[in-house]
Amino acid sequence: MNITIIGTGYVGLVTGACLSWLGLNVMCMDVDNKKITKLNNGIITIYEPGLDEIIKECVKSEKLHFTNDMKKAVDFGEAIFIAVGTPSDENDSADLKYVFQAATQVAQCMDEYKVVINKSTVPVGTGNKVKDKIKKDLQLLGKNIDFDIVSNPEFLREGSAIKDFIKPDRIVIGVETERAESLMKKIYVKQMFLDIPLIVTNIETAEMIKYASNAFLATKISYINEIANICDLCSADISTVAKAMGLDKRISPSFLSPGPGYGGSCFPKDTKALIGFGKSIGYTPRIIEEVVDVNNSQRVLMYEKIKTALFDLDGKVITILGIAFKPGTDDIRETPSIPIIKLLLKDGAIVRVFDPIAMNNTKLLFPELNVVYCNDLYSACTNSDCVVLATEWKEFCELDFLKLKSIMRTSTFIDLRNVYDPTYVKNFGFYYRGVGKK
Ligand code: NAD
Repeated sequence: MNITIIGTGYVGLVTGACLSWLGLNVMCMDVDNKKITKLNNGIITIYEPGLDEIIKECVKSEKLHFTNDMKKAVDFGEAIFIAVGTPSDENDSADLKYVFQAATQVAQCMDEYKVVINKSTVPVGTGNKVKDKIKKDLQLLGKNIDFDIVSNPEFLREGSAIKDFIKPDRIVIGVETERAESLMKKIYVKQMFLDIPLIVTNIETAEMIKYASNAFLATKISYINEIANICDLCSADISTVAKAMGLDKRISPSFLSPGPGYGGSCFPKDTKALIGFGKSIGYTPRIIEEVVDVNNSQRVLMYEKIKTALFDLDGKVITILGIAFKPGTDDIRETPSIPIIKLLLKDGAIVRVFDPIAMNNTKLLFPELNVVYCNDLYSACTNSDCVVLATEWKEFCELDFLKLKSIMRTSTFIDLRNVYDPTYVKNFGFYYRGVGKK
């Protein structure tokens, strides 16, 4: 089967690569010419473990193609995935302009029956709006062509995207016709053999499942952060609390790690979009509003934690280890490290940073950020007053504290990811603070 992917960003590229690896013929399209040129020259545009190898193999076997030509892309696939961005708009609702642009372009190029599958995260009702838009555009062009709309939200996590795509916990498809349902089952036939649960529902329910899932996970993070913040003010230890909570099967241990708050391209915008959507149809989701609020204040609390440890930040040298919002990705969208760094700089601190993968993106997106980018972990810590572990990259979880102690000016270690046992770090002569543990 031939598949087209419109939007070759994180989700589009992973979807295209994985579907071609599973045996389908895939053409990935993007309006960003630079991105397509890079991909056609064998340069992988995002950092995602394992993706490079899969793409190279599929390009070599001519199962995966990249183009900036919309007509060629639409002609190619019987199934057309829309995987464009849905960022927050000025009111914090989901900005659907890229989705509707893609829909119009599909209508303009369509000459025969297609299944248009929305993979972007969109508010309930968007599938129907996309259907109306394509219908209207086809009518304007005098084309009488049948098509189907499907919602197929994506649940992959950056850093483990390939495994998540190929062996997800579930596949959700929102459909209106048997023809579209049967085509979707053909696309995911390999996953069906792996007994991956398939939820077939209507388009609106599929759209809601994605937002409800992300908002719930964000809620777990803000919840455990609140408990950690209370632990910080008493003698309870959050790691033990979270471990014991997680052993309760009704709770599960995932997403119970306290820290500087959630970031990335999904939770921040999706929680806000769900609030906006709820309000637009007459319900204010109060829990999710608080989740967002707690997440915003968590970054400030982390800055205050550093400030309390160092008393006065003016002239202090602070090393931030990690800018990516989580390990395994170069994505720095909404990463908590950036607002924390900005607050430290405002107080006169000299900030040195090191991230194994995400520094180029930081330089590109925050050219004004007045920090010292360092080439490696230990040079970043040299002459530092305080090391802040902000992203739990593997190499930051195996620090040589003897070496750190010998190269730092004063020995304060702030562990925003609770990677280390406090006693272990203190035994090297460090002042240690974690999140919800001392
Ligand atoms: P992204 O910004 O990485 O990529 C979007 C791509 O779409 C860009 O390359 C852009 O140039 C392209 N594009 C925009 N308009 C286009 C058009 N008209 N025609 C062709 N290409 C066009 O975004 P992403 O992170 O891949 O997210 C895409 C969607 O998937 C979003 O709705 C997001 O919420 C959702 N999602 C993302 C993740 C994730 O981890 N990144 C996970 C699940 C779901």
